[in-house]
Amino acid sequence: MGFGDELLGTGFARGAKARGKRIAFGDGKRIIWNHLSEQIFKGNPNIAPPGSENDRDIEWHPFCRGNRIYNRQVGDRWEWNYSFRPILGEVFFTPDEIEFGKRHGSGFVVIEPNMQVKGFGPNKQWTVDRYDAVANKLASEGHRIRQFYYGAGHRLAAAEQIKTPSFRHAARILKNAALYIGPEGGLHHASAAVGIPAVVLFGGFIPPGVTGYGTHTNLAAPGTPCGSLSACEHCKAAMASISVGDVMDAARAFLSGAKSDIVAA
Ligand SMILES: [Zn+2]
Repeated sequence: MGFGDELLGTGFARGAKARGKRIAFGDGKRIIWNHLSEQIFKGNPNIAPPGSENDRDIEWHPFCRGNRIYNRQVGDRWEWNYSFRPILGEVFFTPDEIEFGKRHGSGFVVIEPNMQVKGFGPNKQWTVDRYDAVANKLASEGHRIRQFYYGAGHRLAAAEQIKTPSFRHAARILKNAALYIGPEGGLHHASAAVGIPAVVLFGGFIPPGVTGYGTHTNLAAPGTPCGSLSACEHCKAAMASISVGDVMDAARAFLSGAKSDIVAA
């Protein structure tokens, strides 16, 4: 997966510096980062970069590229590790990113209607017509809707599109949002990391107990999540079982302050 995995890493590293440590993600000999690690770990005092393997303040953590702990590939599917629990991550923003966020205001609802990962991606996709219905209803109730635009996928008619130079910039804008609505993935982990509520569409692929946060409302279908790495009819039906009304109820609860058990990051 993408940014979500790196954000999970920041949760595991939380507080390390205060204990005089930095977390080395790797196999005990080598710090193993992927192509997204540098972007997400930038400015994070709790995480040791490759090259610091022999420093005295290193504490090894096995969560790294090729070993995400929450899952394990068995044949054509992922088997979930039900004892895995995420910790709220954190992003250390630069002054430029903070300024960029300010320019986009606050109090809006961010909706991500696209899940453009190949293979299992369709299993995490709630249909775009339902996302449109939610966006339209929230807009008619007076909420401003925003969507991150990256040149592909479905565009919500009710949303203002925001183009960001990087995922970090998107995360900073998200920090000023009242709510995120979208699939289990990078932006749901980012919402947790920046301390905003979210309505997360889990469907039938991945268990909310494994990668979901208690600060969010996680919508899943009953039954055992399949983890199928290719597009699956069961997941399609699981997503279809989540109605526009389910998402609206969860969204309204957050927006009205009824569900307010949010921990600020
Ligand atoms: Zn399935």
